[in-house]
Amino acid sequence: AGLDPADQALVERRGRVLGPAYRLFYEEPLHPVRGEGVWLYDDKGRAWLDAYNNVASVGHCHPKVVEAVTRQMGLLNTHTRYLHDGVVTYAERLLATLPAALGHMMFTCTGSEANDLALRIARSFTGRQGVIVTSLAYHGLTEAVAEISPSLGGFVPRGRRVRLIAAPDALRVPAAEQGARLAAGLAEAIAGMRADGIEPAAFIVDTIFSSDGLCPDPAGFLKPAADLIRAEGGLFIADEVQPGFARTGDAFWGFQRHAIVPDMVTMGKPMGNGFPVAGVAIRPDLVAEFGAKARYFNTFGGNPVAAAAGMAVLDVIEAEGLQQNAREIGGFLRQGLQEIARGRDDIADVRGAGLFLAVECVESRATDAPDARLAARIVNHMRQNGVLISATGPGANILKIRPPLVLRRPEAERFLEAVQAALAAG
Ligand code: PMP
Repeated sequence: AGLDPADQALVERRGRVLGPAYRLFYEEPLHPVRGEGVWLYDDKGRAWLDAYNNVASVGHCHPKVVEAVTRQMGLLNTHTRYLHDGVVTYAERLLATLPAALGHMMFTCTGSEANDLALRIARSFTGRQGVIVTSLAYHGLTEAVAEISPSLGGFVPRGRRVRLIAAPDALRVPAAEQGARLAAGLAEAIAGMRADGIEPAAFIVDTIFSSDGLCPDPAGFLKPAADLIRAEGGLFIADEVQPGFARTGDAFWGFQRHAIVPDMVTMGKPMGNGFPVAGVAIRPDLVAEFGAKARYFNTFGGNPVAAAAGMAVLDVIEAEGLQQNAREIGGFLRQGLQEIARGRDDIADVRGAGLFLAVECVESRATDAPDARLAARIVNHMRQNGVLISATGPGANILKIRPPLVLRRPEAERFLEAVQAALAAG
């Protein structure tokens, strides 16, 4: 097909003004102009099934969210230094979804800021500096959280106070050993840090290990590591930016699958269905001293429009039964993918929780060596065929499937057909 000349011109203008740090998806970039539910449309009316976007988690342009945001935007938008019912009610509703130990909610605009704030609080409460993360974690873009985001690559200096541990590997580590391995890696990192005179303040993890290649199972395997960091005087921070808000189907939050109560929970992405809403849920004792001294103010965070967007998202998840849908349709997709993979020598594993799925492409089952080229070929074939996914993991060989939670059976069937067609295209 090739990129049409108008889009080619836009790519060039884009490069001129946005500069070199931005990336586009796909060999042939996509140019949607409208979204609805699980669908994106270009200006010629061509539709793509979005099986990748967990920001528009309750569906692109959900009318309830659009209405709530528009109404509030037309009424009042200020900040958290005036009294407003919205931010208070929203905080109450969020906290009601979380363990009782997490009694405060602080609002930001991005997941990066939420993690940045969580780190500041952890370091200020513990009086320590050390942070441990998994080897290909992503926690955000500020200078402090880029330092704990090794998936950004070698360009970002990690610093002495950050240690990496091997992420759980769903394919290469036996399920029964996942928990012990993670805890052993953490113990080793803490010991190494202490040898350098640095004490651990926090262990922070994306509870479904999205950028590490997705490792949802066995549920509960995170607990030994969470227990260990606390036994060593540090805090356990659950980064729920990816698995939160009902995505895993089994639970509203990813950490709940692991039967742990984090000291802090950071959240973002799907929270406002595209409106920038993010935040940190915290144990009140952790923030008592910080709160008295730090004078936290985030100009846009928790404003009336953000609260309206956030509450509308919670309403839709509940009214449309989206956690249950994630469980059911996610299960249907997983089974369908497993059937497709059966007997194939180039697919080593299909895994996931709810509507967060991964398919691991390998050169052969004999070696299980990552096959990034196959993954890229599938991703690009599916894009040409009207279905959007991506690839992730240390070998860039793991298909990442993460559709809006409103994906229903007919679209799930369409999705499976597209996977089959991509594989058949060999
Ligand atoms: N944590 C995780 C696990 C993420 O996936 C992301 C975004 N990809 C972030 C934090 C940062 O969120 P944001 O882009 O909203 O700053």
